Amino acid sequence: MRVAIFNTKAYDRRFLTQANAGFGHDLHFLEPRLDLATAPLAAGHQAVCVFVNDVLDAGVLGKLAEGGTKLVALRCAGFNNVDIAAAERLGITVVRVPAYSPHAVAEFTIALLLAVDRKVPRAWARVRENNFALDGLIGRNLHGRTAGVIGTGKIGALVARTLRLGFDCEVLASDVVEDPELAAIGVRYVDCATLLAEAEIVTLHCPLTPETRHLIDADVIARARDGLVIVNTSRGALIDTAALIGGLKARKVSAVALDVYEQEADLFFEDLSDEIVSDDLFQRLLTFPNVLVTGHQAFLTEEALEAIARTTLSSISDAEAGRALANRVDTRLVAGSR
Ligand code: NAD
Repeated sequence: MRVAIFNTKAYDRRFLTQANAGFGHDLHFLEPRLDLATAPLAAGHQAVCVFVNDVLDAGVLGKLAEGGTKLVALRCAGFNNVDIAAAERLGITVVRVPAYSPHAVAEFTIALLLAVDRKVPRAWARVRENNFALDGLIGRNLHGRTAGVIGTGKIGALVARTLRLGFDCEVLASDVVEDPELAAIGVRYVDCATLLAEAEIVTLHCPLTPETRHLIDADVIARARDGLVIVNTSRGALIDTAALIGGLKARKVSAVALDVYEQEADLFFEDLSDEIVSDDLFQRLLTFPNVLVTGHQAFLTEEALEAIARTTLSSISDAEAGRALANRVDTRLVAGSR
């Protein structure tokens, strides 16, 4: 199939080109993000491949349909950037990659927790300046501490297991569905309010929904244990950033590691080093010595990128051959995800 691949970085081109040796599609790599202005670039391509920050509203999908596009392949799990009902009306099929490597995200979560808790970025910055003083670098053992895991699906379960078995933490968990395998290794399910009041470390792995938006807000922070450590590799808007900054300033929150941020769409995945960033909340976050931020890279491993490329191209082959599409997104799935 002729595929227009929007919003591509060097790593997308590398992994998709390698995987395509087994599929033989006609791949056209494009640098711009997909939006109304760039949609005409897809004319004449039966398939369009996009990422989390491309825009696929009704207007863009209409332009794609005019140009002959029949398939949208998301090279990610989330599909909140696609108007699925409009795609169905226009006869455009949408597919995604529902799971690629929960290990990639779980391992990065542990990396962020250890890094911020043991002050690794500060230590490295000092050593590069030949400053080998240790004042201000005192950390805490993970061993024996109480960690709360919110959402024990594919990623959260791996994090809970690692904290319990690898570090001998007391692990509290909260989820609408309990995982008996976690309970069997001593993970204790409690309600979310209890978890947030008792945990010394909270790590977020539930999806962003209207119910979970600003799950961590000023009230939760006020009722949390002093010195709370917060890790978020899930979705930025699970945390009220202004409230988080308040908690840091009040020294209630002792460390924060974020791979996601509520207004990240305007920042992440681009090199803005020559620009003025006008997001004052984000800039304030970066001023704290006990905050570590990465730009939505928890998924970024060789294994995950290989799996994303393989699944995406395989779905395109299935669509071309008229086979059933296991990873199709339709309005029933959208209704189920609310
Ligand atoms: P999953 O669907 O396997 O697990 C999510 C879990 O959250 C489920 O067990 C679900 O029952 C639970 N849940 C739903 N509502 C809840 C609530 N109100 N309170 C507590 N638990 C609740 O998803 P996953 O693959 O483990 O992904 C988890 C999150 O990680 C998602 O938000 C996803 O977008 C994010 N993610 C981030 C990256 C990254 O690079 N940073 C990469 C992949 C996924």
